[in-house]
Amino acid sequence: MLEIPVGLHYGAGVKVRTLLAIWAVATANVLLAQDTGAPNIADFPRVGDTGSRYQVLCQNSRQLALEVNGFMTAILGQYEKYFQNWSAKDAARVIVFDNAEDFRKYAGGAVSLTHAGLAGYCHLKTDEAGNQFYELVTYESQNLWRVLAHEGFHQFIGYEQGQQIPIWLNEGMAQYFETSFIIGSQFHVGQVSRSKLLYAQALIVNKQAPPLSQLIQWDRATFYANANVAYPMSWALVYYLVNAHDERFGQSEFRRYMQDLKYGQDDIRSFQRRFGADIDHWQADFENYILRLQPQTN
Ligand SMILES: [Zn+2]
Repeated sequence: MLEIPVGLHYGAGVKVRTLLAIWAVATANVLLAQDTGAPNIADFPRVGDTGSRYQVLCQNSRQLALEVNGFMTAILGQYEKYFQNWSAKDAARVIVFDNAEDFRKYAGGAVSLTHAGLAGYCHLKTDEAGNQFYELVTYESQNLWRVLAHEGFHQFIGYEQGQQIPIWLNEGMAQYFETSFIIGSQFHVGQVSRSKLLYAQALIVNKQAPPLSQLIQWDRATFYANANVAYPMSWALVYYLVNAHDERFGQSEFRRYMQDLKYGQDDIRSFQRRFGADIDHWQADFENYILRLQPQTN
């Protein structure tokens, strides 16, 4: 079952454009053909069939499909390099609608997600022949490339960590990577988004953020039911764990923690072993770090 985040309204007047991109759970995968009222994606301009890593269908134009295909292929390659994960990955499908309404109709038919805040999702889809593949779906908006980087990360992390990854870590990292960009051969990650930072800071100042010791234990249902605090605080926690101690990612405790999970160790015990048994003890350090952080991008 998949819980749908409710509206993101913040009482303190902070302008919020938190990305609501959903990682659909495996149990929602068996799809029934039904009339959703959405246009038929088979009619969309399409690029990247045989041998490509992505098949991209864009309602708007073949030109956009080509651009999306290039972006997704590049960013997946950068995720592979960053995590040194060269496992074989099946081709995935990307669908970009040119308006939110058609996207929501399609999403509603696919995973019963029709909420107005939903910007995109990535799920394992099963076709009529029984083949499973990742399908990433979104629509054209000013955040299109961030949503694609975010959903592409969910796809990638399924290969890197498996489906058992804690939800705060999955959504926190997808947000951490959504501001990624590539210049030449350099991959830049983790740019601090102003709106996300302001939101996390406001939650901390107003004492509306859940204690980290709770956040890391939330299951999917609890996480999505508390989406308005869970998304920004999981981003903040990932940012802190990756950056606060000036370690190279490959040699960091954060990387070791991810490796622990990859090899099936208990996530809470691994978290305590890698970052300290008494999480409440460094909660204040985390909060001070986030409150001092400066935005780097919109
Ligand atoms: Zn997500």
